[in-house]
Amino acid sequence: MYQANGTIIIIYLRFKTLLDYLFPSMKYILLSIAFLCGTLLAYTQNDSISNSLKIELQSYTTKTGTFIETVEIPLLTKKAVAIDIKADHWDTTVHNPYINTVQLFPLELNFTDSTYASPVSHKKVITSHYGWRNGRGHKGIDIDLVTGDSVVAILDGIVRFARYANGFGNTVVVRHYNGLESTYAHLSHIGVKANDTLARGQYLGKGGNTGNSRGSHLHLEISYKGEQIHPEYLFDFSSKNAIRSEQVWVTQKWTHARYHNSRRVSKVTVIKSADEALASLAAQPKMYIVKKGDTLYDISRRNNMSISRLCKTNAIKQSSPLKIGQKLVLEL
Ligand SMILES: [Zn+2]
Repeated sequence: MYQANGTIIIIYLRFKTLLDYLFPSMKYILLSIAFLCGTLLAYTQNDSISNSLKIELQSYTTKTGTFIETVEIPLLTKKAVAIDIKADHWDTTVHNPYINTVQLFPLELNFTDSTYASPVSHKKVITSHYGWRNGRGHKGIDIDLVTGDSVVAILDGIVRFARYANGFGNTVVVRHYNGLESTYAHLSHIGVKANDTLARGQYLGKGGNTGNSRGSHLHLEISYKGEQIHPEYLFDFSSKNAIRSEQVWVTQKWTHARYHNSRRVSKVTVIKSADEALASLAAQPKMYIVKKGDTLYDISRRNNMSISRLCKTNAIKQSSPLKIGQKLVLEL
């Protein structure tokens, strides 16, 4: 649409001199017809990548002869502007390369499918949900399995990380084409390497109990630019394997473990419109990223928030050391 309209403007400028020979009214009629045809075709040919619309304008005569002018309008669509998922923060050596960035919410996500592939081949039993657990955030879900069970990719994507990570044990991170990343942790065996392209349902490793894990299970995280999203907000973990909505808005509520309890199923109401998502902005907390030399005292003073409230809000102790890049919620 925009490209088509943009081209019309360029064409208009290019042929302005020639069209000046025509009556002004005819010039506008021709441009209007071209615009309408372009708009109509842009709407009806959604899957095209290299389509173009050729419009033959009426012949006209100038001092140098008679001309039949043809204009060509390239019709670009969403698919033509393919996003290179390896272009941004593609680091195969760290679990989270987005440590110093803040992702703003609400965020619109799109899926091209209505289902995902179950990461395990048996019935999915969730032993721990996304949410607050033992005074800290559990930012994924735990799916029961037996060591050695095959684990597969839930959606098409490219392996960004496939190695041992502190706490997570043997871990595979797959980046998907809508920008999401899925993390598969505590694996007993990693079956892929970074930069491998995976189809949904394709084997990536064996489930296990490596890293900080008590008992064999799959810790599955879903994140966008380093911010973990409540997996059950996007995916239905029943046997349906349904993606809750092909268009979905992720709000802050679904990216903060403290809004949820790992022992309970959170009630999911999927936000499908921008208006509803924007309404949630009012309740969005301010974030602060810890910089070199920061102390809790400095941060609390600068943000007009007592140290005890800052600690309580972020579930940290006054004595716990701050890490550079750590994200602190300033107010809820
Ligand atoms: Zn877990």
